[in-house]
Amino acid sequence: MHILSKSTYIKGLQCEKALYMQKKHPYLRDKLSIEQRARFQRGTDVGVLAHEVFPGGIDMSPNSPSQFPKKVQETMENLSNPEVNVMYEAVFQHNDTLIMLDILVRDGDRWLAVEVKSSLRLSDTYYNDAALQYYVLHGCGVPLSDFRLMYLNGDYVKDGPIDVKQLFKMESAMDYVVEREDFVAQNVERLKAVVALPHSPVVNIGTQCHNPYPCDFQGHCWKLIPKNSFLFTTAMDDEALFQSYFNGVNTNAKMLQVLDPDSEEAHQIEALETNSFYIDYKTLYSLAPQPKPKSVAFLNLLLDRPAVPELDGTRPYEEMILAFALQGEHEQDAAIDPMPPTGPRRDDMAAENCFVWDCFDDHNRWKEAIGLLIERLSRYELIVCFTPQNLTTTLLRHEIIQNQNVGYKIFNLYEVLQEANFYHPAIKRGLTLQRLETALFDEAKLFEHSRILLEATSNDLIGYQQAREDLITENKVVANTYQHLFK
Ligand code: SF4
Repeated sequence: MHILSKSTYIKGLQCEKALYMQKKHPYLRDKLSIEQRARFQRGTDVGVLAHEVFPGGIDMSPNSPSQFPKKVQETMENLSNPEVNVMYEAVFQHNDTLIMLDILVRDGDRWLAVEVKSSLRLSDTYYNDAALQYYVLHGCGVPLSDFRLMYLNGDYVKDGPIDVKQLFKMESAMDYVVEREDFVAQNVERLKAVVALPHSPVVNIGTQCHNPYPCDFQGHCWKLIPKNSFLFTTAMDDEALFQSYFNGVNTNAKMLQVLDPDSEEAHQIEALETNSFYIDYKTLYSLAPQPKPKSVAFLNLLLDRPAVPELDGTRPYEEMILAFALQGEHEQDAAIDPMPPTGPRRDDMAAENCFVWDCFDDHNRWKEAIGLLIERLSRYELIVCFTPQNLTTTLLRHEIIQNQNVGYKIFNLYEVLQEANFYHPAIKRGLTLQRLETALFDEAKLFEHSRILLEATSNDLIGYQQAREDLITENKVVANTYQHLFK
């Protein structure tokens, strides 16, 4: 028998086929990206900390899926054991649907259910999760005094050891989950029927493949779609693309017939067909720094926003600079670089003309980056970077600049390329430095940027060294891109 869980239920709401595949053919799933893995780890860390708000509980987490039936039974026994007042990851099953609840607390002759979220605000998805959990708890006959969502308090400022009572906020979702119970019950029945099918349900690819989450069966479902199909363009929204596709405009040739040949969509299709990039050079050159700067440096900042504040004086998800690489365009930039009295060690001074600073081994030092950046950036007329964030805003936030009228200009290749409608088949669902490298240089030495962050927070020397090297490698791609496009 196949049991629904919270994650498979949510998957089924997005796409019945995704649910079926997850249950019957999980080996066809795409690999998890590093970013997804990091997000999962963050959720786990916050969940464990949240247990301390209701201390002294029994951890019911099973060691393996085979233990679920035993844990369901133990959870039910604990409900009637007056010595048990708090359970973590209590396991319940009702109508072939299994849930684990983060925290369950005895509240007089009832129980308070708490689900923990590692974010600063609550979204519809969290309420939908809670509705499923309530459906199962109610079905199991657990009398609830309240169902609360617990999440991070953005106003909490760390001062000494973490005060878990201040770190978290709680909001009742009881009214919502009670109201949604019938809706959940209908969906559970529908999804159970899907899982019981002898074959995968027939579901066409569509907007649900990307919304609300990128589906991890795209490698399987999209395998018959040609790699250069217009479905991989970004100029038109997904809904319009799929509408054309299912209305018979299902090849690039047919799509080109109905498009203005000078439209962005048509240019993207041509780029797909020729496996090359498209760029609106007129716009690109109009954005080029004028007059030509005498000195240029390339900046790669590594920022971290820990969900749980690490340092006194900081809040959940408050940004800190973990490292930066600053590479002058000319060799002599390194030669004139005096060794700072404090800060980076000699072995942190990277080879060639790239200056690297980091505080991987002691995050308390992170504000040293501010002074170093104030001084070093001012040596150049132009600072080139590649980041989806607005670098000026980041520098203002950390008071590295006081206003936009500093001596140097910031040139963010990410923003410039977006404005110039840059497109390449590798870009598909978003512009990253890794994909840009593939597009321009036909190479893919880079990796997901999140890997650097994972290495930098890995707490091991090999990870730190790798993170430094990767920062430099990334910065070289930024430098090569700038030189390639503007020289
Ligand atoms: S790729 Fe699309 S159609 Fe296939 S399972 Fe995922 S959401 Fe459904």
